[in-house]
Amino acid sequence: MTAQFSIHVAKENLKFSAAHFIAYPGFREPLHGHNYQVGVRVEGALAGTGYVIDFGLIKSLTKAIVDRLNERTILPAKSDCLKIEQLASGQVRVAYENDEFRFPAEDAVLIPIVHSSAEELARYIWDELHQALASRGALASATVLEISVAEAPGQSAMFRRQIGAA
Ligand code: ZN
Repeated sequence: MTAQFSIHVAKENLKFSAAHFIAYPGFREPLHGHNYQVGVRVEGALAGTGYVIDFGLIKSLTKAIVDRLNERTILPAKSDCLKIEQLASGQVRVAYENDEFRFPAEDAVLIPIVHSSAEELARYIWDELHQALASRGALASATVLEISVAEAPGQSAMFRRQIGAA
């Protein structure tokens, strides 16, 4: 195996503030929020450009993903215990056992995860960023993409996967 380089980005502007609650059958957290910090690590070979991958591209694509989550309530569309409905009134109704929430649709973001844990958010951001990078042909030298999501300083979850190539 050839030498590997890695780059790591966790800039101030890759933060998002969002509300969420974890829900399982029989247990639900109260609605609360975090100031999340996203980090991106890419490992790979050095391309002819002298880069593994362009920092600017990583920053702009990751920022576009976190901006869609910022100042929203994150709702896990694949939840096994929440019933989430888009109402004709322009609201989103979320039912859990005997409790009910309603959010203006523009205040909520539905994402295809089961629980809005930092782990599942990291995997979601991984999928979105991987797709955005792959569609731009930006992963030619990359071998591993890793996303970290910190709910608080010093407390983070990571999702890491090989992306073939090199
Ligand atoms: Zn939380």
